[in-house]
Amino acid sequence: MTGVAVLGTGIMGAPMAGNLLAAGLPVRVWNRTREKAEPLEAAGAVIAGTPAEAVHGADVVITMLSDAGAVHDAMSAAAPGLRAGQVWAQMSTVGVAGVARLAELAAAHGLTFVDAPVQGTKQPAEQGTLVVLAAGPPAARETLEPVFGALGQRTLWLADDGASGAGSRLKMATVSFGISLTAVVAESLALARGLGVDPELVRQVIVGGPMDSAYFQVKSRAILDGSFEPSFTVRNAEKDTGLIVEAGESAGVRLDVVAAARERFRRADAQGHGDEDMSATYFASFD
Ligand code: NAP
Repeated sequence: MTGVAVLGTGIMGAPMAGNLLAAGLPVRVWNRTREKAEPLEAAGAVIAGTPAEAVHGADVVITMLSDAGAVHDAMSAAAPGLRAGQVWAQMSTVGVAGVARLAELAAAHGLTFVDAPVQGTKQPAEQGTLVVLAAGPPAARETLEPVFGALGQRTLWLADDGASGAGSRLKMATVSFGISLTAVVAESLALARGLGVDPELVRQVIVGGPMDSAYFQVKSRAILDGSFEPSFTVRNAEKDTGLIVEAGESAGVRLDVVAAARERFRRADAQGHGDEDMSATYFASFD
């Protein structure tokens, strides 16, 4: 049985740990705010008091924390419990530069580093239907098979070297699409409202036509219902837009739309919507 340590039981990490437990894998979890990890105890998880306690004896360590800084801090704190040869699947969205920094940390501890960000939000995390965008050595793939199999519907193996950041580079491109689209949907509905048009009519025009998508339907419904329970928070979306802009700059690619989306998330955060779903970018259209 592949023992798994999960560091980070937020919106994504908690249901991911739940699916590992449901697949029968022994799981230890750690979260900075312990109360958020505790519900997993009933499903069979061991709740660790420290990252070091969580990773001790695990075959696979999963990190699902907000950003590269949080991951670096948690894995540094885990050091006394780490052992050379453990597989570290880094699944948070940390951007291109973040991967390099974390791969260095892995090398310093003799860990096998797998860059494995995911596509999919809260619901796919709950349903075990994420898409894992992975880069790492073939030997680690076998170890990870039952783990990624429990978390996702599909794993794309993109490169043999986790430090290449092949998974995170693809993630930048796909998350850029989702985030920009959210801003576009929100602006369209906000403009309708500002022009004195019922925003529901925007949905009526788009749904069923060539511009329709499941994503449009979910995000527009949430905005029109005023339902901003987070699948992906404004704060994390703002973080990701920063990573995407930085990735574009490093590659010499201009990304005007995502830069504008970033300003909207910043405004929404300043308005007090940071912990709400990123569809709350809607509020950034109004003073
Ligand atoms: P979340 O609910 O905001 O959870 C963030 C986690 O990071 C929590 O466990 C939090 O601990 C921890 N954390 C933050 N700062 C920390 C620090 N300095 N030290 C230690 N722990 C810290 O976020 P999420 O939605 O689960 O996302 C997790 C990662 O997956 C992010 O990189 C995100 O971009 C990525 N992702 C998210 C989605 C999505 O749709 N939600 C989809 C794909 C990828 P506390 O509980 O103590 O605050």
